[in-house]
Amino acid sequence: MVRSTVLFLLIAVATSASAKGWSTPAGGRSTSGGPEVLFTFDDGPNPTTTPKVLDILAKHQIKAVFFMVGEMVDTQNKKVPPIIARILRDGHVIANHTMTHQDLCRVKTIEAAIADIDDGRAAIEKVAAVQMVWFRAPFGVRCDRLDGLLAERGIEHFHWDLDPQEWKHNDKTKTVNYVTGSLARSSARNVLLLHDIKPVTVAALPEILAWIDGENAKRTKANQKPIRILQAPELAIEQLPTGLVAFARDAIERLRGLRGDLASVLP
Ligand SMILES: [Zn+2]
Repeated sequence: MVRSTVLFLLIAVATSASAKGWSTPAGGRSTSGGPEVLFTFDDGPNPTTTPKVLDILAKHQIKAVFFMVGEMVDTQNKKVPPIIARILRDGHVIANHTMTHQDLCRVKTIEAAIADIDDGRAAIEKVAAVQMVWFRAPFGVRCDRLDGLLAERGIEHFHWDLDPQEWKHNDKTKTVNYVTGSLARSSARNVLLLHDIKPVTVAALPEILAWIDGENAKRTKANQKPIRILQAPELAIEQLPTGLVAFARDAIERLRGLRGDLASVLP
């Protein structure tokens, strides 16, 4: 009896935990048919470490997603606005990670949760001058209240598949081994969670990318699918509703036509 009660409780806990989680794969299915990885960086920007992450990404021509914290953007530090301008210039995507990085399922009032989502968005949009499309809750929490708030705002949560937890253990080798080991075994699309405010992330990133280069050279020789690095803007376009993509394509065609018409009547 005791045993069955314990078993029941374990099942109940496991079921309720998975019911609160976000569905994976977080970025949809692989379109290359092989392993894919999207780099995402949370909690920044940081005036010291974020530019180093940007240098590494630029060297490898990788476009990532930066889930920023409003407080880190809305600061007196004069180095921050040029970093945000560079992130956009380099072709990365900026997204909202709340104003003060609280657990939105545990903050006492719904007003506090609302303020953290909306103020974060406003603070980042004010400096970046681009609209936030993606949102990620601090700690990746999920609850009915947050589901409701996101639905009201037409926002979908952008979760992750791979979390090396480098922010917690600060161990470069552990971080590299987790990411490379996961990618070596994967044939799916992986959204990788990293933190551009952490020196350990800056140290691990070149090793992860060097491993991908080496692994892909081996795979190409063996006629295997390489690990594809997914570029953030590509994913943004992929996630647009099909109708909107068609609309945008038609609009561009119409503009081209208009240009042609104007050219024919102008001297
Ligand atoms: Zn975070």
